[in-house]
Amino acid sequence: MTDFTQVHTDKLYINGQWQDSRGGDLHTVVNPANEEVICQVIQGSAEDVDAAVAASRTAFKCWKNSSASDRAALMNAIADGMEKRKEDLIQAVSQALGCPAHITRWLHVDGPIYAMRYYAERASIMEKTEKASHSLIIREPIGVCGFITPWNYPLHQFVGKVAPALAAGCTMICKPSETTPLQDYVMAEIIDSVGLPPGVFNLVPGAGPIVGAALSSHPDIDMVSFTGSTRAGIEVAKAAAPTVKRVTQELGGKSPLIITPDADLQAAVRWGCEDVFINSGQTCTALTRMLVPADRYEEAVTIAKQVAEEVALGTGSDAFMGPLSSARQRDIVRGYIEKGVAEGARLVTGGPETPEGFDRGYYVKPTVFADVNNDMAIAREEIFGPVTCLIPYKDMDEAIAIANDTEYGLSSGVWAKDAESALPVVRRIEAGLCFVNGGDFNYDAPFGGYKRSGNGREFGEAGLDEFIELKSVQLPA
Ligand code: NAD
Repeated sequence: MTDFTQVHTDKLYINGQWQDSRGGDLHTVVNPANEEVICQVIQGSAEDVDAAVAASRTAFKCWKNSSASDRAALMNAIADGMEKRKEDLIQAVSQALGCPAHITRWLHVDGPIYAMRYYAERASIMEKTEKASHSLIIREPIGVCGFITPWNYPLHQFVGKVAPALAAGCTMICKPSETTPLQDYVMAEIIDSVGLPPGVFNLVPGAGPIVGAALSSHPDIDMVSFTGSTRAGIEVAKAAAPTVKRVTQELGGKSPLIITPDADLQAAVRWGCEDVFINSGQTCTALTRMLVPADRYEEAVTIAKQVAEEVALGTGSDAFMGPLSSARQRDIVRGYIEKGVAEGARLVTGGPETPEGFDRGYYVKPTVFADVNNDMAIAREEIFGPVTCLIPYKDMDEAIAIANDTEYGLSSGVWAKDAESALPVVRRIEAGLCFVNGGDFNYDAPFGGYKRSGNGREFGEAGLDEFIELKSVQLPA
């Protein structure tokens, strides 16, 4: 088990050095599974952000002119370092988030290692030029970037920003969530060990309203990439507006899963419930509104109840679901469960009480609501916990209307007889992602939301485009 008190968590990583904060305090990181202290992590100040931005600006002058092959080699060395320190990365996420380690391995760590190599391979895109009649189109890195990430998939979100930025030739300052900063420290140690030029990568953990706000408004930052709540995403965009920096936002969701009348109901409902319960419901793409044909509704409710009651809680090798990430998050989720009951939804299983045998740790029972209508708060607001809502529909027009009746548009799912018959339904849903018949997440494809779920894309080649400025060179005809 990694001992994070031995990692440099009392320091910031700025300009290739572990530095003391200019006025920041220590913050205690707690294991949500047992409420024990893991370690103390420094919370940076606005002055620390200034120092990191200055280092990043200086580093950008050389880094932007580095060759794609040099950048790719360094990124592959980082991926090798991630492989070597995989157990530390697993522990960093698992201890601070509470996700069982055996699930953290494939859910939180394998994909980011793949994504680091994926973008190493694509650094060469930066050296491609295109012709458009008498013009030449050149790609250049946007510049100094500020990255603000949440706690729910902390390594995935780190790599989704850092890897394409490195490939493009950008420099960066990362601010992880106060709840889960540990994997960023392991990554900083790996990055330090491969010899990335000082100032290209900087780590300044801290509070959202201090470090996050300083990054968002900083006049010498060219782009802010934010993942988190819609509330904080709006604050970031407002703070960024006066300096006209590029802002990308990966925000919340309240995503629908449409199960068609001819679907394998058992497989669809089981997959839909597990999609919500994995990571304790703290997944921005979670398909938390399950839309079921009215004439198969009670059958679906019975299956959902059975799946929820089979979920093994804990952090051991047989556990499927750990605690919520913090006491605050647990209380928010319990509050929503109470609200659902008060709104008149039918509590099929679960509920707001502490699960039996889990008096320590921030556990919540896997919860299923039936007889939910789409106007209820539990159907409109992101709960971010292990709570699923089953909503009946009469025909496909009604299913589509309910699916799209949300201010969000991050994710969706369709479970039909087969993929081909699902596609006409997929095309009618307003969301950036759609999972068909249990299809897996794909790091090669763009990820991002419509409507209030955000702006911009991460992963795939579209994720690299976000870090690029296009220069049109008009040649004499
Ligand atoms: P949050 O918005 O509270 O915090 C996210 C990050 O923003 C943290 O690092 C936080 O310190 C920082 N922050 C908070 N206030 C800020 C401010 N005023 N200025 C700048 N930074 C600020 O969200 P959270 O509770 O950590 O994460 C959960 C939310 O993230 C959920 O709504 C979830 O849907 C969303 N999320 C979205 C995606 C996606 O890709 N669309 C992925 C994961 C999480």
